[in-house]
Amino acid sequence: MITAVTTAAVASWRRKTVGKVVFVPTMGALHSGHAALIQRARRLAGKDGGVAVSIFVNPTQFGPSEDLSRYPRPIRADAALCRSEGVDLLFRPDVREMYASDVSVAVSEKSLSLRFEGAERPGHFDGVCTVVALLFQMIRPEIAVFGEKDWQQLAVIRRMVRDLKFPIRIAGHPIVREEDGLALSSRNRFLPAGARAMAPRIFQALTAAAMEAEAGTKHASLERQLRRDLGRIPGATLNYASIVEETTLEPLGRITSQTKARALVAVKLGGVRLLDNLAIPLGNSLAP
Ligand code: AMP
Repeated sequence: MITAVTTAAVASWRRKTVGKVVFVPTMGALHSGHAALIQRARRLAGKDGGVAVSIFVNPTQFGPSEDLSRYPRPIRADAALCRSEGVDLLFRPDVREMYASDVSVAVSEKSLSLRFEGAERPGHFDGVCTVVALLFQMIRPEIAVFGEKDWQQLAVIRRMVRDLKFPIRIAGHPIVREEDGLALSSRNRFLPAGARAMAPRIFQALTAAAMEAEAGTKHASLERQLRRDLGRIPGATLNYASIVEETTLEPLGRITSQTKARALVAVKLGGVRLLDNLAIPLGNSLAP
C-alpha cells in the first residue's frame, strides 16, 4: 500500500495502475462498515486492478454549528485497516491540497439535496458533491463504492454522476450493522451508555414497518406507525421519518408493482444524530 498526500502522487499511482481502479471515499475512523466497502472494492478491482481509499474530513460538508474538530481521526488504526484489507492507495490530502485559498467553484445538486439531511444541514450536499467530484477527478476510478447507510448521499451522488456524465459506475453497498441492529457509524462512539442501549430500537422500528408492509398495510399508516415507534424511544428526538421513492426521494404517489420504497429516518439520541434506512416492500399493499 502506498500513502499519498499530494495530487501528484495520486496521478503517478493512477498512471501505473493497469487494471480497473475502484475507489472508496471516506472520512476515516474506519469500522467494519468501511471494511465491507473496501472488500467489495477489492473484489470489483480483481487482482490486476487497484483499490484506492481516501480519508478526508471535508470541512465544507460540516455546518457552522457542527463540530468539525471533534470528528475522530485515528489515523494509525485507519492505515492498519486499509493495509490489512489490501488497499493499494491510501489518499490522505490536507485541506490545502483539496481547496485553493480563494476557491470559488462548487458542485450543487438542486433537487434530492433539499430534503432530509439537506434540510437539516443546509449546504451539506454541496460540500459532499464538490469533494466527491474533486476526488473523482484526481483518482479517475472506473467504479466508486458508497454505503447505503447514507441513502440520500448515494442518491445524490448517482444524480451527480448522471448529470455531469462522470464515466464512473457507482456501486451501493448494504448497511453493515451491529448484532443488535444498530447501523455502524463513526459517530456511535459518542453515544452515552443509556442512549447506546436504546439505539437498536431505530432498526426495530424500521423492521416493524417493513413487516407491516409485507402484511399489506398502506404506506400512510406505515409512516405514522414508524414516527410513533421512533417517538417512543426514551430520550430520542425524531428529526425525520419518511417513506419515499428510493431514487428520487419524492413522496410516494400512486403505488404500482414497480414502486420501490425506502424508509429514511434520522433520530437524535444522547446528543448524536443517528441515520438509518430500510427497503419497504409495498407490493402487498396493492391489493384492494
Ligand atoms: P464516512 O466515513 O462516514 O463518510 O463513510 C464513508 C462511506 O462508508 C460512505 O459511503 C458511507 O455510506 C459508508 N458507510 C458508513 N457506515 C456504513 C455502514 N454501517 N454500512 C455500510 N456503509 C457504511
